[in-house]
Amino acid sequence: MLSQDYVFPRTVESALALLKEYGGKAIIIAGGTDLVLLEARKKETSAVLVDISHIPDLCGIREEEGWIVLGANVTHSEAAFSPLIRQKALALAIASGKVGGRQIRNIATVAGNIVAGHPAGDAAVALTALGATCVIRSPDGARRELGMPEMYAGLHVSAVDCHAELLTHIRIPAQGPGEGSSYQRMEQRKALSLPMLCVGARVAMNGKKIKSARIAIAPVGPRPQRATEAEDFLAGKTASPNVFAKAAALADKHAAFRTSAVRGSSEFRHAVLPVFVVRALEEAVARAAGA
Ligand SMILES: Cc1cc2nc3c(=O)[nH]c(=O)nc-3n(C[C@H](O)[C@H](O)[C@H](O)COP(=O)(O)OP(=O)(O)OC[C@H]3O[C@@H](n4cnc5c(N)ncnc54)[C@H](O)[C@@H]3O)c2cc1C
Repeated sequence: MLSQDYVFPRTVESALALLKEYGGKAIIIAGGTDLVLLEARKKETSAVLVDISHIPDLCGIREEEGWIVLGANVTHSEAAFSPLIRQKALALAIASGKVGGRQIRNIATVAGNIVAGHPAGDAAVALTALGATCVIRSPDGARRELGMPEMYAGLHVSAVDCHAELLTHIRIPAQGPGEGSSYQRMEQRKALSLPMLCVGARVAMNGKKIKSARIAIAPVGPRPQRATEAEDFLAGKTASPNVFAKAAALADKHAAFRTSAVRGSSEFRHAVLPVFVVRALEEAVARAAGA
């Protein structure tokens, strides 16, 4: 059953004022694709839904001083088709293009995917690989910015208190020349299911040499996990199949998969992960070279 009151603030300030006024009894709603299910299952029972979809300041995608900035109302469809994101943060466009079915993508937001706290939210994993940060505002005027792993406080628990705070924008360091990214996903069927395994990668190249790499893997715990040992190994190496295979083995060494009836056995996912890491690195490096 839906909550009783449904309000449409037109500014960030009025949304925050409403959260304050209701003192924890109101909650932010964006696309509602996660929240309405929680309401229906009585896992969320706020008295007031504060719908942010009519706030113009939270709409749109722009480039600002080397960052791609997404407002909290940007949907997966917008992210998937945005020329700016496709050019300068491609892993997100690919990941958002794989969320649910078309109806879901047309209404569900990238920001909601982060705050919902899914361990393997497609956009959240890609944003972890891309090195994104989130801007969060509170009614007392405070503004903080958190990186992607820090956005998760636990399993399905966000660092953002959606009864008291607003994620206003997502910022992604724009990919420049010599940089590329990739997103790989394994699912049980083509739509309407969260991934069984996904890997995001971003590389910065100097010719054939890897300057730096970021690799994000999920679901391996409550939040997308960085494969930091593999990233450290890759820095300064010349890109080659052998180097990618060694990085993939390092990533796999630290991936503690659970056996799940829905997402497959640990053994199966350990077999697939190195293949995905190699693919993600190959693609990201090829894109960095302009392929
Ligand atoms: C049929 C179906 C298929 C799906 N398939 C996938 C899939 O393949 N991959 C995937 O990753 N997800 C999938 N999802 C989950 C869901 O669509 C995504 O997580 C979506 O991005 C959530 O965005 P939303 O705008 O609908 O969030 P909402 O449901 O509106 O909100 C989700 C949570 O975040 C909070 N919130 C939202 N925006 C803000 C904000 N700006 N500031 C503070 N708090 C906020 C809300 O209070 C709520 O707690 C699926 C869902 C359904 C119903």
